[in-house]
Amino acid sequence: MTVSNNNLLEIKNLDISFIQARGAAHALRGIDLTISSGEILALVGESGSGKTVTSMSIMGLVPTPPARVNAGSLLFKGEELIGRPHAEMRKIRGNEIAMVFQEPAKYLNPSLKIGEQITEMLILHLGMSKRQAVEKSLEFLDVVGLGKSRRVLNAYPHELSGGMKQRAMIAMAICCNPSLLLADEPTTALDVTLQLQILKLIRSLKATFSMGILFISHNLGIVREIADRVSVIYAGKIVESASNKALFENTLHPYTSALLQSIPDAKKRGHRLRAIPGSVPDAENIPQGCSFHPRCALASDRCSQEIPMTKDYGNGHSAACHMVQ
Ligand code: SF4
Repeated sequence: MTVSNNNLLEIKNLDISFIQARGAAHALRGIDLTISSGEILALVGESGSGKTVTSMSIMGLVPTPPARVNAGSLLFKGEELIGRPHAEMRKIRGNEIAMVFQEPAKYLNPSLKIGEQITEMLILHLGMSKRQAVEKSLEFLDVVGLGKSRRVLNAYPHELSGGMKQRAMIAMAICCNPSLLLADEPTTALDVTLQLQILKLIRSLKATFSMGILFISHNLGIVREIADRVSVIYAGKIVESASNKALFENTLHPYTSALLQSIPDAKKRGHRLRAIPGSVPDAENIPQGCSFHPRCALASDRCSQEIPMTKDYGNGHSAACHMVQ
């Protein structure tokens, strides 16, 4: 199947449930997303809203069963990823689509030196000789700001600081020159200074390698710094999508507004943060009508009965809310 435009990734109406003994958990409810080369799309929402299921689906790492794809498609460079054999997905992961995670310590192998972990990727995926792989690994350590450092190459993960580990994991993720990078809360476990450095690095990867990047975060403050476009997800449904500027300057959806009001603002002394009342519903018990209605200050009777359709408000700005005109 071929896409009619230059989207690197095109997710259409992706709908996924997890079948469990106590019933089905509806994790993704018909989401649509696109990412082009050289673009950072941020996917934002609270924990449990479906961000990680989305990235794991793209990586082909959602096990079926217990998951079931009810509908939709996931096109990468025009080719369907859903239903691809495991062997093919293994080749695509690392080569074409790579991922960085929130806690590198969990994903780096503690018993292998950093250099061994990066060279293994290059030998396995790109067929390099050991010598070529070591040279290339040094180049990528340099790209991620660790310098052409044999000390880092010969270090075990526990010998590196948190920021260095995150950079080493990014070097591993990009060493095979993937077209698409999935960054799942890559700065959440870092202090503010390191967060800024990693954001700068991710921006430079976009510019240098023209990668498409899906940046997953619960924090709109960070997203504002890095994203070209933003999609806001709630209870497995995209509720608002827009360019960075439009989303922050002309917010349409009450959930996006509530997330914005919960961002600390260092410039406003005495600024009171407004927490969103309640919590994201369980995927097994999604409220009828608009799934946000039990927490929404603007909810009306209609909201508890009728699911709002997603409407386009021009220039790629869309939202799903009965109250948005
Ligand atoms: Fe709030 Fe109703 Fe809009 Fe849902 S549809 S976000 S409940 S106003």
